Amino acid sequence: MQIIDNYSFTGIKVIIRVDFNVPLGAQYEVTDDTRIRGALPTIQKVLQDGGSVILMSHLGRPKSGPEEKFSLKHVIQVLSDHMGMEIQFAGDCVGEEAAEKASNLKPGEILLLENLRFHSAENKIKTDEEKTATRLFAEKLSSYADVYVNDAFGTAHRAHASTAVIADFFDSDSKMFGFLINKEIQAMDKVLLNCEKPFTAIMGGAKVSDKIQVIENLLDRVDNLIIGGGMTYTFIKARGGKIGNSLCEEDKLDVAANLLKKAEEKGVNLLLPVDQVLADRFDNDASTELVNIDNGKEGFMGLDVGPGTIEAFSDVIMNSKTILWNGPMGVFEMPSFQKGTVSIAQAIAKSTAEGAFSLVGGGDSVAAVNKFGLADRVSYVSTGGGAMLEYIEGEELPGIKAIKG
Ligand code: AMP
Repeated sequence: MQIIDNYSFTGIKVIIRVDFNVPLGAQYEVTDDTRIRGALPTIQKVLQDGGSVILMSHLGRPKSGPEEKFSLKHVIQVLSDHMGMEIQFAGDCVGEEAAEKASNLKPGEILLLENLRFHSAENKIKTDEEKTATRLFAEKLSSYADVYVNDAFGTAHRAHASTAVIADFFDSDSKMFGFLINKEIQAMDKVLLNCEKPFTAIMGGAKVSDKIQVIENLLDRVDNLIIGGGMTYTFIKARGGKIGNSLCEEDKLDVAANLLKKAEEKGVNLLLPVDQVLADRFDNDASTELVNIDNGKEGFMGLDVGPGTIEAFSDVIMNSKTILWNGPMGVFEMPSFQKGTVSIAQAIAKSTAEGAFSLVGGGDSVAAVNKFGLADRVSYVSTGGGAMLEYIEGEELPGIKAIKG
């Protein structure tokens, strides 16, 4: 497999699949440029070698055809500021303008293509007819460049034209991962394949149904499995506790009971919260009460873990050498219910300072470490929530397979 570090891009045109799916504000201004910053090392490497860069990405979920609010022209300024240079733009990712601009691109220049998903061929690939359209679309994109680099980890779990199919049109020496994907794979493999023990996984967030497969796969690897957040209550109810009006997936009670049993069989120390903050409504100003985790009440919902839980979880985290965190411990968006999530994030940061390797991933835990200013105090923050979870589930991601072969 070709490695970007020791490849020379002198005089070479490179098409890079980046993840510029950034949030935009009311005036379509970029409100968080983390993903753009994530792509810079790869872009810089190609330019410094004397190559030229064609960037392609999706933004949002356009339904059919171009829509102003999903245009990638809104990222041009931010990218230009970071790179300190002008960025060329093609108002359609395929077609005459794109082909001409790509063909005239000189070493040291950057061309950004308009949102790939303005063409359904990018990601609608069910029928035979759609598959043919996707191959043609991918081939067209491939024709703009000599080399294909995939650096969009956030979409590596999608078998789309730009993330997987396009790789067929390059030989194995002319396709590779960018620095960002490489770092993501290294961080995940460090946790999954050769981690230092004890290994603790912390799973939180709203729904257990999203994370069953992840939890199953982790049970074979971890020493401790901490469960918090809204998904707690499906487990509590499954083991006979009272949950009142807390979040619960009734159809997943069996699954939860089964996971508890499996953890025991495999000798995994599974920790559920021991106490909780109950609220009389889903509101920052709700009346609250601190009770044991099994003592939920009608008319109340558990929106955060309590101090006993924080202490127990933090103890385990402090004694871990590898930590994986996905999903908040409570409704951290509301200040009244953020304490559990902040405290766990702080414990992870502290354990990291004492030598543990910590990987944080999945949309909301990333938002939480950013919100609490702890992102640079954990070892690695993954940029791709869904992709990271699928990787941990043990799936081979199409975007990774397409390059590795
Ligand atoms: P997920 O996308 O599954 O990781 O869930 C993240 C969401 O779960 C966040 O928006 C949290 O506010 C929410 N959440 C966490 N704990 C609870 C809880 N105890 N009750 C309701 N929602 C929760």
